[in-house]
Amino acid sequence: MSLANSSPVASSSPQPASSAFEKLSPVTGESQGTFAITDASGVEAAIKRARAAFPAWRDLGIDGRIKVLNRLRPVLLENAESFARRISEDTGKPIQEALVTELISIWLYHDYNRKHAARVLGRRRVKTPLVFTGKQSYIEYFPRGVIGVISPWNYPLQLAVAPVLSALIGGNTVVLKPSEVTPLTGLLAEELFKRIGLPEGVVEVVHGDGSTGAALTAGDIDMVFFTGSVATGRKVMQAAAQKPIPCELELGGKDAFIVCADANLERAARAAVWGGLVNCGQTCISVERIFVVDSVHDRFVQLVREQVESLRVGGPDEFADVGPMIFARQISTVERHIADAKEKGARILTGGARVDRPGQFFNPTLLADVTTEMAIYREETFGPVLPVVRVQDEEEAIRLANDHEYGLNGSVWTQNLSKGMRLASRLECGQVAVNDVISTTGHPGLPFGGVKASGIGRYHGEEGLRAFMHTKGLMVDRGLLNNEPTWFPYTERKLPAVLSLARGVIGGSIPKLLSGFINLLRSDK
Ligand code: NDP
Repeated sequence: MSLANSSPVASSSPQPASSAFEKLSPVTGESQGTFAITDASGVEAAIKRARAAFPAWRDLGIDGRIKVLNRLRPVLLENAESFARRISEDTGKPIQEALVTELISIWLYHDYNRKHAARVLGRRRVKTPLVFTGKQSYIEYFPRGVIGVISPWNYPLQLAVAPVLSALIGGNTVVLKPSEVTPLTGLLAEELFKRIGLPEGVVEVVHGDGSTGAALTAGDIDMVFFTGSVATGRKVMQAAAQKPIPCELELGGKDAFIVCADANLERAARAAVWGGLVNCGQTCISVERIFVVDSVHDRFVQLVREQVESLRVGGPDEFADVGPMIFARQISTVERHIADAKEKGARILTGGARVDRPGQFFNPTLLADVTTEMAIYREETFGPVLPVVRVQDEEEAIRLANDHEYGLNGSVWTQNLSKGMRLASRLECGQVAVNDVISTTGHPGLPFGGVKASGIGRYHGEEGLRAFMHTKGLMVDRGLLNNEPTWFPYTERKLPAVLSLARGVIGGSIPKLLSGFINLLRSDK
């Protein structure tokens, strides 16, 4: 089957293909077709179409745009199961996971946007300092223009579609480059936007590999929104710096999971297993470092081990809990991390190797006695491995959690909620949960993003809507005075009044400020 020529929905904007690549099923290892790569001239043409579509889409106004984007609801309702199956076919992930983490998430983000965008992006009045008496001040937002969105393979629909929807609602148009690793879902994203019935050029999808992404970042776009690895993020930022244009980076993580002595161990163990192994561990906010206080360490590890050993590994048709690795090359990172950890003294309590069957399956793995010098502790693993670190107390856990190049997400487990919130506030990361995992990213009103090497910028919530907008400060004067007292001329007579004004402003004295102001007006005559 050659999907290079047979995408489910024919592109209305044919893109010149310089070459094609083959995609193998992560479940069976068999070919799922060949896919076209959009070359630089195809990317340039897509950007031109998006730019041409921009003025009309911007001028439709927020209510008009929301009306169009709301067509997402019937499309998702009618196709939820078939879309989820197509994502599963591409990635191997369980169909339930595709429904919950891709399709439900997309709707939640849009539902938030449509309810809040008019308020969040509307003009708002702000206080005007007394020294500017007689004026009114506002903040307003306007779209940046054409946004380049580059998305990864782990949640290939959600991470492609959600930022596009946020960019669109503000009046931008978009050129999307989904990951080459999951091209069936890239085509699904294109189909989804076509089914919504967006005007021509409002969303252009260019398919291909890193060269297509590089052509997009080098092209005539006004902002780039990138989700992916730190290594590629650096290249994207360098490309953005050449123009310069704003660049939002949603990068990797090595999330800490801190189990206090008073945690509900049963819940914490189940959460560690789900949070570390959902999507076969290929989640930017996966549980990647489990710190357990010494007094409960052995009991907790035993509970986790029982949970991990009860999981079923297999493809979407087998109703398994854990699917295959989506990207074959990622398996070698997992193997390298496990081998290095074992060599440096970690114990493999369960798993540790590939599953003996076709496809890209890896046994869920639990490692104990993990220490800070191991690669599995320092680097993002992005696979089905739970590394456990024994700590003396919560203080040691917080210190270790923060002593890391990443800072994306994290969680704290305790039945003392005020202690949990205190510890959560001390974690250096973009999001944190007390007694929960992953769900913070599903809440559409909470800003999402990383600190340190985990990224720059925020999306979701109010920050996420404004990320795609220019901010404008606006001040309005009735225009009744012919001259402002602080304008020219700078006469000798004016100086004492200006001094009094300065003392009033800096000293915070309203009477001095007003008398300086009145004297200024008088001295001007
Ligand atoms: P990559 O960085 O390899 O790729 C991300 C995207 O960038 C892909 O579409 C890729 O294309 C494209 N790309 C590759 N080279 C270039 C280039 N030179 N210029 C522009 N674009 C380029 O990441 P992965 O797809 O492997 O995703 C996994 C990573 O993403 C992990 O580190 C994970 O933590 C992170 N991630 C972060 C999230 C967050 O929100 N913070 C969420 C999910 C994942 P192609 O694939 O076709 O080569």
